[in-house]
Amino acid sequence: MPTPHTLPGTMNRRDFLKLGGLATAAGAATVSNVHAAGAAHVVIIGGGVGGATTAKYLKLADPSVNVTIIEKNPVYIRSYGSSEVVVGHIPYSAIEVRYDDLKKNYGIEFIFDQVTGFDAEKKTVQTAAGQSISYDKLVVSPGIQLKYDAIPGYSEDIANTQVPSGWIAGPQTKLLAEQLKAMPQGGTFVLVAPPNPYRCPPGPYERTALVTEWMLKHNPKGKVLLLDPKDNFVTDTTMLQGWNRLYNFPMPADYEAKFVEELKKSKVLGESDGVAQLYEKGILRKPTGPSMITWIRAKEGGRVLKLDVTNKTIESESGVHKYDVLNIVPPMVAGKIAQDMGLTDKTGFCPIDYATFESSIHKGVYVLGDASITPMPKSGASANTQAKVVAMAVLASIKGQAPGVPAWGNVCYALAGHEYGVFVVDVFELKDGKITNVSGPRYQILNASEAQIRLAALYTETWVRTFTADCFA
Ligand SMILES: Cc1cc2nc3c(=O)[nH]c(=O)nc-3n(C[C@H](O)[C@H](O)[C@H](O)COP(=O)(O)OP(=O)(O)OC[C@H]3O[C@@H](n4cnc5c(N)ncnc54)[C@H](O)[C@@H]3O)c2cc1C
Repeated sequence: MPTPHTLPGTMNRRDFLKLGGLATAAGAATVSNVHAAGAAHVVIIGGGVGGATTAKYLKLADPSVNVTIIEKNPVYIRSYGSSEVVVGHIPYSAIEVRYDDLKKNYGIEFIFDQVTGFDAEKKTVQTAAGQSISYDKLVVSPGIQLKYDAIPGYSEDIANTQVPSGWIAGPQTKLLAEQLKAMPQGGTFVLVAPPNPYRCPPGPYERTALVTEWMLKHNPKGKVLLLDPKDNFVTDTTMLQGWNRLYNFPMPADYEAKFVEELKKSKVLGESDGVAQLYEKGILRKPTGPSMITWIRAKEGGRVLKLDVTNKTIESESGVHKYDVLNIVPPMVAGKIAQDMGLTDKTGFCPIDYATFESSIHKGVYVLGDASITPMPKSGASANTQAKVVAMAVLASIKGQAPGVPAWGNVCYALAGHEYGVFVVDVFELKDGKITNVSGPRYQILNASEAQIRLAALYTETWVRTFTADCFA
């Protein structure tokens, strides 16, 4: 049996160099800024999490490879952690990530231009400014495209000016933060959650929580309405437990039953225990008044039908809802360039070979991150760990070697409140050619202590810092 790659997300730099069968001596990874003549040229479309991490780890493993990132924006605006800008925990400048370290530390070259297409035969990439760039291997990590028009009455223009999404962080994130601050006292904030699959599974629920926490302080008579085309989500039990404890959220009966089942499995509840014991043992709290949050799920009519910006209403299957501030996370597909390059299938995302992330449609082109189809969550953590697998697969292919056997990790932290953290942790292995989740328990335990919950919130903060450094520095 081949030796597995181990978990790329947990490798240190020395492990990574060993893994590539490359130089291991101290300092051997030092790279020069010189474009090595005759060496392979890897072009990467998109300098976000997936693209930047692939570039860095390619250079760490083999400094002689020429690596160029083509990115449309000179500064990356990180989407992860951007809900904290909406509620003013951090300034907008905190989510701006610069590329100086990648250039300086690893000799990665950058072209700031928009890719418009490619020629698979000639192995060239075309850009909006009319450049044609040749490559030996092509990596594509363009993130997502939001389908604003999927909701009647909504459009990209409306999102930019009146009803922001902000699911690709940028000016819309700023607009939403301003709107929240300016919302009239007693007003209603409505968030429309997306259907599966979408970027950052706990994200809409974290944003709901953080907005509620903000409003309890600044707009205590206000309301938060979450319209959802789904009935459940990743991290739902722990996130809803946070809403229950912090925001008086009444736990739906089907979730109470889920809590009982899980806690019986983990022996926190005895076989004869039921819902009453959830409240007796302080796992859940009986609401002491009305909750600021209302969550209308698919089965209660949460699917959105129509937006009317003139009357400031959003219609769902449950009726017409008036809003003061509206945040829509529309359905999404792979970034537009992936579609233009013919890398997507009927799902709107890109099918790949799981061992290497090479496109199933175009050989020699690797697709990763939110744009790819995998059973992994569409998260920055997934894109980062996929990038390390892609870097190894691309190098193996350049050297005419067989790719290794990959494994992946994912950890998504989310906040139910400033000091209330939840998480999901996954480990994936390749089994019979498929990415298979081999995790044990994935979530924070339901009887976690206050300290464990605060620690998870602290981890959220430190994760953002160390994660950004792993991708971009
Ligand atoms: C509110 C929110 C909270 C989140 N929180 C977390 C979290 O806590 N943890 C977590 O792991 N993930 C989180 N995420 C998800 C995470 O941000 C994404 O999953 C991750 O950024 C995906 O990486 P990517 O490389 O696929 O795409 P991106 O990081 O979006 O990068 C794509 C890049 O490609 C560029 N590009 C696109 N098209 C072109 C073109 N034609 N030419 C040139 N450049 C192009 C774009 O400009 C962009 O820089 C969150 C997302 C949101 C919205």
